[in-house]
Amino acid sequence: MDFVEALSTDNLTAIRATPKTDVHCHAFFSTRLENIERWIGHSLTKPPPKMNGLEEMMAYADAVLASPIKHREGFEFVGVSAMNDAIQDGVVMLEMSFDIRLAEFYPDGVAGLCAFIETLVERFRGQADLRPELGFSRGNADDPKLTSLAYEAVESGTFQSIDLYSRQEVCPPEVMKPLFTKAREAGMKLKAHVGEFGGAEEVRRTVEVLDLDEVQHGIGAAESVEIMRWLSENQIQLNVCPTSNVMLGGVSDLASHPIRILFDNGISVTINTDDLMIFGQSVSEEYRNLYRAGVFSAEELDDIRHASLEAHD
Ligand SMILES: [Zn+2]
Repeated sequence: MDFVEALSTDNLTAIRATPKTDVHCHAFFSTRLENIERWIGHSLTKPPPKMNGLEEMMAYADAVLASPIKHREGFEFVGVSAMNDAIQDGVVMLEMSFDIRLAEFYPDGVAGLCAFIETLVERFRGQADLRPELGFSRGNADDPKLTSLAYEAVESGTFQSIDLYSRQEVCPPEVMKPLFTKAREAGMKLKAHVGEFGGAEEVRRTVEVLDLDEVQHGIGAAESVEIMRWLSENQIQLNVCPTSNVMLGGVSDLASHPIRILFDNGISVTINTDDLMIFGQSVSEEYRNLYRAGVFSAEELDDIRHASLEAHD
């Protein structure tokens, strides 16, 4: 059965069996919550269905998830489990970000983190192409130790891309320019979270200052036809996570998700999970949800799926 038929007959098994990508996911929160519960042997408080932005999400994560996973053993369990979840979902290529703070779980720092990531890449080679991405939070831009670890990680050769995240107000893009310049010199793809909660102009400014190849979210661009045209002309892909946007309040509901406007304005969009542990929807489920909500036709979703596979070939 092809993907169009799988969507239009609501056959989740067939949707899962079709190859897909996930190019916006954070390793630390990338397996289902149920897998953590099974591993630790008891249930955990579920995330609220609606949260007030990143602050409330992080408050939930600190209160509920830190104790089971915020250590080397927990992180490594999540990493392996995340790859298994992705493979079962038909994800054949992942650009998964690993936050530089994870290096602090290892006595030898970046070297230990990179060694683990490389075993993960090897273990799942042939089933899914894991392309490690270096993750850096804007909130750590003023931390000299983490900044120096990030430079070391860029030079390690383990990471194929870099992503910047957390609230854009805490750090203007100019501050990150030296690290991003270094990442570019190392041949890495450059990405950043921006426009998750509005702000088309901030999307353009961040792309220009950091010379980004792709934007994580970027849905705020939908408020400006001019900026959407600019993104389209410059072939800047937006890696969108629909359920994340709805649960964190950036978008009121799936039916009105601006991914439709972005697509209609010629922007390349991809469909991704963000944090499976918190948002609970796999890539297959994200496709299915967009179809059921009437955002895209099955043919359009198949075009988006194909385009993402080809763009990352
Ligand atoms: Zn994200």
